Amino acid sequence: MKIICIGRNYTAHIEELQNEKPEHPVVFIKPDSAVLLKGHPFVIPEFSKDVHYEVEVLVKINRLGKYIQQKFAHKYYSQIGLGIDFTARDVQSQLKAKGLPWEKAKAFDGAAVIGQKWIDKDQLDLQNLNFSLSKNDELVQQGNTSLMLWKIDEIIAYVSQFFTLKIGDVIFTGTPKGVGKVTENDSLIGKIEDDEIFKINVR
Ligand code: ZN
Repeated sequence: MKIICIGRNYTAHIEELQNEKPEHPVVFIKPDSAVLLKGHPFVIPEFSKDVHYEVEVLVKINRLGKYIQQKFAHKYYSQIGLGIDFTARDVQSQLKAKGLPWEKAKAFDGAAVIGQKWIDKDQLDLQNLNFSLSKNDELVQQGNTSLMLWKIDEIIAYVSQFFTLKIGDVIFTGTPKGVGKVTENDSLIGKIEDDEIFKINVR
């Protein structure tokens, strides 16, 4: 499986990183080796001194597709999840400054948290879905899908022009504002509405 990530999908997060609002979605990929193994803590990699959490709504692809039209995109997923796009911000900043690809900052081992719990999309209002991340019981990120610049079906239409979507692929739909640093012994809990989707420890 592959993980397709969208960057800069929430205006307030674009502003906090002083990025330009993109004309098209910013797209990058994480390999399957980036998935944090079930039950394992997230280990801060030695090459970074500034790893950030980014909580994101996830979409699990359940049908093979290429050049998917937006009006048919809803047929390609039935479950919604939540995860973290861990980012070595110091490494990413250096790469960005040189115009280099971001993989070392975002595709390293453990950099993709995929919550174990998935929710049927029919049980959710995808246009108005609240999600959040707490760090050590303090709410640090709060988002709502209504604030996405590109909605899920638009994202699927867009990325499937470039990449064949396969069963089991996961799309990370971008982070809202409030990204911040993790330190050893942090505990991170992600929720969709009031439903706990993941809980991970940082080592
Ligand atoms: Zn992200």
